[in-house]
Amino acid sequence: MKMEQLISKQLVFNASEIRNVDLRIEAQVHTNWTDGKNSVSEMEKAARDFGLRALVYSEHTSSGSGTWYSNFVAEVRALPNSEMEIFTGTEVRISDHFGAIDLDAEVANQAEIVLASVHRFPDINGKPIEFSNTSASPDVCDTELNLMVAAIRNKRAHIVAHPFGMSLCRFNQNPSALQWEELIKVALEFEVALEFNSKYHKDDFSILERYIASGCLMSIGSDAHSLAAVGECSRKITQFLGHL
Ligand SMILES: [Zn+2]
Repeated sequence: MKMEQLISKQLVFNASEIRNVDLRIEAQVHTNWTDGKNSVSEMEKAARDFGLRALVYSEHTSSGSGTWYSNFVAEVRALPNSEMEIFTGTEVRISDHFGAIDLDAEVANQAEIVLASVHRFPDINGKPIEFSNTSASPDVCDTELNLMVAAIRNKRAHIVAHPFGMSLCRFNQNPSALQWEELIKVALEFEVALEFNSKYHKDDFSILERYIASGCLMSIGSDAHSLAAVGECSRKITQFLGHL
């Protein structure tokens, strides 16, 4: 889909307008097609029970996933109609320091929404480096920032999923204000959305406040791999805004 469509459906929105947005959105969900615990229909029911207005299945894919992704899309399309809008998406890794993403051509044809993320850092040939071979130091924030910035400049994904999530959760490193500013500046320039992710960013709403202050595009994702997590990010943000 075109970014303008995502914006017109308010799946992605200008963070400074967040108070005018219907936040009943879940834009990061995984099912048992990959590493999620539950089926497509179980996740859909959980989202409806939660009262969401929009759900994005952001299944993990990589090159070669085109063989099954169309079956996954067919299953999503066959879900019963309801008031909740449903989108087929995919989360792919940023695969090198030039900002390439590991997006299969078949998947690219069928996915409505593409999320790019840093999971493991790529080596010089683009091969993922095991966590055990990356040491926790402030350098990881720079590495993650450079990968995200390069991917944003390529503009092949709508959303950068869980920015700095690896540095924060895997390596316990906090990006500096300057690093956040650099990321947001490039996201604004290239009109790519930054996700607020309740799994990786936890309750660090200073990140959300940075988005709001900058007016960058943003999305909301829980990275739900089971029923209980569906809608979590939406709920947390709504509570936080109510408490401001
Ligand atoms: Zn991810």
